[in-house]
Amino acid sequence: MSYVPQDKEMRVEEKLYQNRYLVDAGRPHIKVLPHETPSKALLSMTHLCPAGCYELNERGQVEITADGCMECGTCRIVTAKTGDIEWNYPRGGFGVLYKFG
Ligand code: SF4
Repeated sequence: MSYVPQDKEMRVEEKLYQNRYLVDAGRPHIKVLPHETPSKALLSMTHLCPAGCYELNERGQVEITADGCMECGTCRIVTAKTGDIEWNYPRGGFGVLYKFG
């Protein structure tokens, strides 16, 4: 663990870099449900997710790579009415570890 002086100003990206993730390989805790064209809510997640987990693929569909997810719940709230995703917390012991940031 690196030492960070309390008076040093840090950018958000630098703070996010302090987090650690334990990836549950093959068992993503968030899934995008199959779709032809994404809803506005789902499409907005390509801009709203603070961890950049959502991307638009070459077929115009939204995909997620949940490995760096911070479990903020934004996508869960934004897509609550459209039902575009399945959202669960990672299994115990997996996911983000905030004790470094
Ligand atoms: Fe991104 Fe937050 Fe959704 Fe995780 S919970 S995928 S960080 S918006």
